[in-house]
Amino acid sequence: TNTGSKPDISREKSAELYEKSKTYFPGGVNSPVRAFKSVYGIPLFIQKGDGCYIWDADGNQFIDFCASWGPLILGHNNAKIREKVIEVMQNGMSFGAPTALENELAELIIKNNSYVEKIRFTSSGTEAVMSAIRLARGYTGKDKIIKFEGCYHGHSDSLLVKAGSGLVTFGETSSAGVPKSFADETIVIPLNDKNAISEAFAQFKDQIAAVIIEGIPANNGLLLQDQDYIEFLRAACTENNALLIFDEVITGFRVGFEGAAAHYGIKPDIVTYGKIIGGGLPVGMYGASAEIMGHISPDGGVYQAGTLSGNPVAMAAGIATLTELLRSGFYKDLNQKTKEFVDSIQRFATAKNYKFKVFTVGSIFWFAFTDKDIKTAEDIDPTSMDKFKVLHRELLNRGIYLGPSGYEVGFVSAAHTKIELEKTKRAIFDALDLVFR
Ligand code: PLP
Repeated sequence: TNTGSKPDISREKSAELYEKSKTYFPGGVNSPVRAFKSVYGIPLFIQKGDGCYIWDADGNQFIDFCASWGPLILGHNNAKIREKVIEVMQNGMSFGAPTALENELAELIIKNNSYVEKIRFTSSGTEAVMSAIRLARGYTGKDKIIKFEGCYHGHSDSLLVKAGSGLVTFGETSSAGVPKSFADETIVIPLNDKNAISEAFAQFKDQIAAVIIEGIPANNGLLLQDQDYIEFLRAACTENNALLIFDEVITGFRVGFEGAAAHYGIKPDIVTYGKIIGGGLPVGMYGASAEIMGHISPDGGVYQAGTLSGNPVAMAAGIATLTELLRSGFYKDLNQKTKEFVDSIQRFATAKNYKFKVFTVGSIFWFAFTDKDIKTAEDIDPTSMDKFKVLHRELLNRGIYLGPSGYEVGFVSAAHTKIELEKTKRAIFDALDLVFR
């Protein structure tokens, strides 16, 4: 039942495709969030994207703020990326041998980033993080890691772990199929709590190989941490001979070319990137000092490999993307545009006394149905997600596509112009009036 003034969009073709996909894939999808389980209706099957627009199988057009979950900082079907990819593809698609393109992308990264001296390409963010953890363990000779409740680091076994009860706890597996013994190696603590960091290091003295944190946590809402908290974490790692890993799969090349590390001016020991670095094709990466990276095989004893790692077509997309990001003023323009957009939405909600807050950094934003500051996973009221459901439907009905979960952030891209952002604002104002009426 639609509560709003706009009719629900047609989903006939998507429904047909969904019926078929359910016979092929669990839940009809190849990644769970795509199944639209926490919003109304069946998932939209996307047919085409161009600039900031996407079209579904029924021909509905949307201004897209999901951006393939972050990679598309230049928008869909960017001509520069497309042309570079096609040019490289003419010469074959994979060799499993080194190519000059890997050097080219590595040079763009390393020359413009003060946080990594040597890198290794992978094919996903999950692989990058999983490998970074192995590197930290191999380098320190220790087994345990600390992660934070509310940070997502992909779906490798050690990281599908959530907090048990108590401040500092052995993790509990957050997925069936993860052995308890793996979870025992992962200590889970809350964000925004210096005491928990100290407690964890005290309790597991000389056992912690690494602490992993999302540079700016953006997978469970946008949980902006204070500068002095991250500084405290950095110091605690150094003091305890544990490596600090910034998982910058979302924030890398997003909040600035050098990601969250530069945002804080804090040097992690290992950094992971993904998403934007591949311009929409599958690329992940981890990097560190030459000394730490010297422990990776074949130079060192930490094994890690990949048939399609450094794939030339994916490298081409990365090269074309990063080249654009290095143009002067790129981030200033994008971040300024985003700020005007979210400030205006916040002003509207505040003027109307709606319990609604926009959290934002760079070109990332998150809509929260609250009037409180939110810094930890626990701060998020799960019942507020009912309101997101309505917002999501009303925005779809007005031609605006957000990721189908209230825990997910949205992304503004270089392809969104003032015209689309104005249209989106008006749609959000109308939708909020319906959510709160
Ligand atoms: N780390 C972070 C911070 C992420 O946001 C994600 C994906 O959303 C991952 C790791 C996993 O990356 P992928 O989905 O490419 O495996």
